[in-house]
Amino acid sequence: MEARNGTNIGAGSESALVALETDDEDEQPATPRLIADHPLVSAAPATPRGARIVLPIVVGTRPEAIKLVPVILALRESEYYEPLVVSTGQHHKIVNYIFELVGIKPDVTLWAGARHSELNERVSSVMTRFEDFCAERFGADQDRVHTAEDILNGRFPAAVLVHGDTSSAMAAALSAFHMRIPVMHVEAGLRTSSNLSPFPEELNREVITRVAALHFAPTSTNLQNLIRENVPVGQIFVTGNTGIDALQWATTLDVRFANPELQALCDSDRRVVVITAHRRENWGDGLVDIGEGVARLAAAQPDVSFVLPLHPNPRVREVLGARLSGLDNVLLTEPLGYATFARLLKRSYLVITDSGGVQEEAPSLGKPVLVLRETTERIEGIAAGTLRLIGTDPDRIVAEASRLIEDPIAYAEMAHASNPYGDGKAAHRIVAALEHVLLGSDPPEQFGPGYSRHAIARAAGLALPESLAMHELDEATSIPQG
Ligand code: UDP
Repeated sequence: MEARNGTNIGAGSESALVALETDDEDEQPATPRLIADHPLVSAAPATPRGARIVLPIVVGTRPEAIKLVPVILALRESEYYEPLVVSTGQHHKIVNYIFELVGIKPDVTLWAGARHSELNERVSSVMTRFEDFCAERFGADQDRVHTAEDILNGRFPAAVLVHGDTSSAMAAALSAFHMRIPVMHVEAGLRTSSNLSPFPEELNREVITRVAALHFAPTSTNLQNLIRENVPVGQIFVTGNTGIDALQWATTLDVRFANPELQALCDSDRRVVVITAHRRENWGDGLVDIGEGVARLAAAQPDVSFVLPLHPNPRVREVLGARLSGLDNVLLTEPLGYATFARLLKRSYLVITDSGGVQEEAPSLGKPVLVLRETTERIEGIAAGTLRLIGTDPDRIVAEASRLIEDPIAYAEMAHASNPYGDGKAAHRIVAALEHVLLGSDPPEQFGPGYSRHAIARAAGLALPESLAMHELDEATSIPQG
């Protein structure tokens, strides 16, 4: 298939590329296409049994694949939807490994963003190629009015689902907005409040928020962030994080490590510290410091083994590889498959990471996490006591990790399973919410209590113990037993 710039954008529809319209705003149709003929606004159709509503789902990177797989599978289970998997090509290889694990084949690959660092190139390429794909597959030209019937019969997408904060997600959301296809945002409302950290993800999230019609917020903290930015509460649904759905599944799999050294290490009784680092704002000095900190930590803790699956990005591999290869108790590996990485996390003693997803996964496995960043959008784990922000200073890395390795009380304070991010049912909540929004079925219940125990305690000037058995609570508060 030929895209407008003459490059091949992968398999998709057979039809010729639809000519694209002028940029002249005066020539845009006077009436936005969705006013009367989208199921969201037309007289609610009776839930059409057997209808196949097409929802393109845009996947660019490994974490998006991991967190969208449960949504894709849940949509496939539903009798109403046809999820259309659009892989942008940002992390083509590792995205496909994840899809292969569950038998998903992308419906189209846009092959955008082959170069690693050029954000503008990636964003513009995803925007135009996604539009080309929609034009070819659906005839998404600006003048044509798409009726509710078109949408309910799969001839035009009801909405585009994007996830999180990647350049792929932001570009596809903006592209869909320009085509007047509603955008629905999975993992909405995470914020650090600094556009430089994580860079460029924080701004990507904010842009998607401005564009999206429906926001699937993992937690009530994320909902609160969106409300603070004037997103109407009626457009937000709290789901839990779909990453926890994926992790709960992955940790049930009985997988072995392809790397024999890693398998032998995990079969031994040595303590294992898992390290990952890849964030753009740590490129350069940050990664040099992380490499230095880990090297010194490994020298200071010879009885502990350190495993670092290298991110595929060459900028990351070169720096960490140069400082850490050849050290006795440091094992550098290729990126692990998702199921084996989940197994490694479960086997680990401690996690040191700048990853977003790992900050959600490790707490739910009861593993303390030292976060190699100055800010985090995952404040639920900080409140629960399982995450600690330490930045990238080598001395601090050595001191904080050594304390957890040497002091069992400090370790026990951080190592308790806590699931503030989800209960494994997020994907089904999302599908049920889509059915409610698009087809008028009953609304599902949100994730979590809707209020935060920690916020209430803080406001009341109280320090609540982490967990208090119900009978102790009853005694403490004299609540009569039922
Ligand atoms: N992960 C993986 N293999 C690895 C390292 C991480 O499958 O070797 C998974 C991990 O379980 C998590 C996701 O990749 O779900 C996190 O990806 P990454 O750290 O690249 O991105 P972020 O979450 O920071 O956006």
